[in-house]
Amino acid sequence: MRTVTAYAAPSATEPLVKTTIDRRDVGPKDVMIDIAYAGICHSDIHTVRGEWGEIQYPQVVGHEIVGTVTEVGAEVTKHKVGDRVGVGCMVNSCRECEYCLRGEEQYCAEGNIGTYTGVDPADGTITQGGYSQAIVVTEDFVLRVPESLDVEKVAPLLCAGITLYSPLHHWKAGPGTKVAIVGLGGLGHMGVKIAAALGAEVTVLSQTTSKKDDSMRFGATAHSATSDPETFTTLANSFDLIINTVSAKVDMGAYLGLLKVDGTLVNVGAPSEPLEVPAFALIPGRRSWAGSAIGGIRETQEMLDFCAEHGILPETELISADQINEAYERVLRSDVRYRFVIDAATLA
Ligand SMILES: [Zn+2]
Ligand SMILES: [Zn+2]
Repeated sequence: MRTVTAYAAPSATEPLVKTTIDRRDVGPKDVMIDIAYAGICHSDIHTVRGEWGEIQYPQVVGHEIVGTVTEVGAEVTKHKVGDRVGVGCMVNSCRECEYCLRGEEQYCAEGNIGTYTGVDPADGTITQGGYSQAIVVTEDFVLRVPESLDVEKVAPLLCAGITLYSPLHHWKAGPGTKVAIVGLGGLGHMGVKIAAALGAEVTVLSQTTSKKDDSMRFGATAHSATSDPETFTTLANSFDLIINTVSAKVDMGAYLGLLKVDGTLVNVGAPSEPLEVPAFALIPGRRSWAGSAIGGIRETQEMLDFCAEHGILPETELISADQINEAYERVLRSDVRYRFVIDAATLA
């Protein structure tokens, strides 16, 4: 066992505090990773505050992890000491169900094992996430992070990046398709960059036009304000694919009206309240309303390689570990452009 420094939530209502946690010994198929950087995802905040269900405390979160391999088990073949690697939202799955067998471990019939708050099949402990100095993960759930991607910025690809890449890929965004990204935050800004690199024509739908310059810089060709009712008239029946990254209740009928015939609106944002969909927003245009969760390991690797090939990186603000609680407050105020990354060297 190795004891490492981490930042943990002591309860649902207290700030995160510096502590130590134990990482298991490296098993035959395990990889030990010294963490260099960890992104802050909105899910981390929901989780530690108990907003997505009760959890055990203390809990370390963080599922956008990048670092270097420092030790490998005797049977490891995919990674070696010194490799730059990443870990996203999952650290294991059943590997036997139809979804795991086709490489979509995120939809494992038994439920995938989350990087935090999961029950680790290796030792039965609760998994502890990336706000820590090191982590031990079975090799099949460790990604190769191309050296050409700036290590200080790359971590958010492991959750925000794949969460947008997977639906863009699944619904075939590319040359000749018109894509709208709803919300320009941590998720949305990755959607714009990836959809543009895939060759799609991208429009950003944001509450105001205040981020229009950013939208254009990230590769969008248009940016419209959703606070302006005109937007929904002007852009009616315009898009093949709309990805909604907003985790608040919005007028789904209005957004579905922006789809062409056979268009699909995909929710990746998860509001706590149910959303209402009028049937007549779907029926006349044979439209679909869908959801999508992260991506499988194979697809996550494909996304990292695609981002390396196209020079795509998240926009990040680097913070030290003692700024995590302040960063949480800023995430809740949407006061970040566009993702916080913790410098794990400051955990020491
Ligand atoms: Zn996340
Ligand atoms: Zn499975």
